Amino acid sequence: MTLIEAKDYVTRKLKSADVPDYLLESDLLLCKVLGCDRAWLLAHGDRQVFDHELEHLNALIDRRCRREPLAYIFGEAPFYGRTFLVGEGVLIPRQETEILVDMALSFAKEGVVLDWGTGSGCVILSLLLENPSLRGIALDLSPKAMRWAWRNVDRFGLFDRVVLWHESARLPNKWGDHGLDMIVSNPPYIPTADIGFLMPEVRLYEPRSALDGGPDGTQWYGFLFKNAPKWLKRGGLLLVEVGGRGREEAVLSMDHFGLVVHEVKRVNNSVSIVVFKNE
Ligand code: GLN
Repeated sequence: MTLIEAKDYVTRKLKSADVPDYLLESDLLLCKVLGCDRAWLLAHGDRQVFDHELEHLNALIDRRCRREPLAYIFGEAPFYGRTFLVGEGVLIPRQETEILVDMALSFAKEGVVLDWGTGSGCVILSLLLENPSLRGIALDLSPKAMRWAWRNVDRFGLFDRVVLWHESARLPNKWGDHGLDMIVSNPPYIPTADIGFLMPEVRLYEPRSALDGGPDGTQWYGFLFKNAPKWLKRGGLLLVEVGGRGREEAVLSMDHFGLVVHEVKRVNNSVSIVVFKNE
């Protein structure tokens, strides 16, 4: 089989499994197996594919045809200009969450930032890498997510600036009582009953605990509003990603326990970043 034939073969397989971006993804799978980039692939259409490469390719195709996300198959995902390690048990970083990082960077000049529900650690680690004056707490309830966060802290050599905290409602004593300059969070916000309707990549593979926002999707916002006023210093900020249609209004009309809405930024049709101040 030549590369041109292999490309046709992969495309047909992915298409028959309803993989949305089957043309692009067939190239990406081939590049992965051959260790090349797309330009090389295009320029070497008549190169023969070896048996061991075909075997590897078939294994990847099988996984993708079961709708496993490409990021899990590759073991990595891009975020804020860097590559984060991801896999089973952790949410794949989303592009819109980069706006949360942008906004946090525009406010946080120094001090301690808590990332509540850190997952892969993509948000807090990007903040620390962009601003060397920040330190962080990467908190998550899921032991599997914690392991991915750990791998990424290791990858970026940030162990001296970040504490991994495997608990939800209690912080390290040192910072627990009005000790934080900022809290950032991209909490789970899908209403429980909607999870079954998400695309297979998400509903079959991404961790439910990273998606499930309770009956109306606002459960974790309520949790954050209740806790942020006692965790933040006076003047400290809480930045949350708010997703899903109508959720912004719902979140803005909740009890904020004294936090004041400081800024609302629309990212796209269904995602906003809301900034609260602890006055
Ligand atoms: N903070 C991580 C991210 O934005 C994980 C969020 C989550 O698991 N809900 O990717």
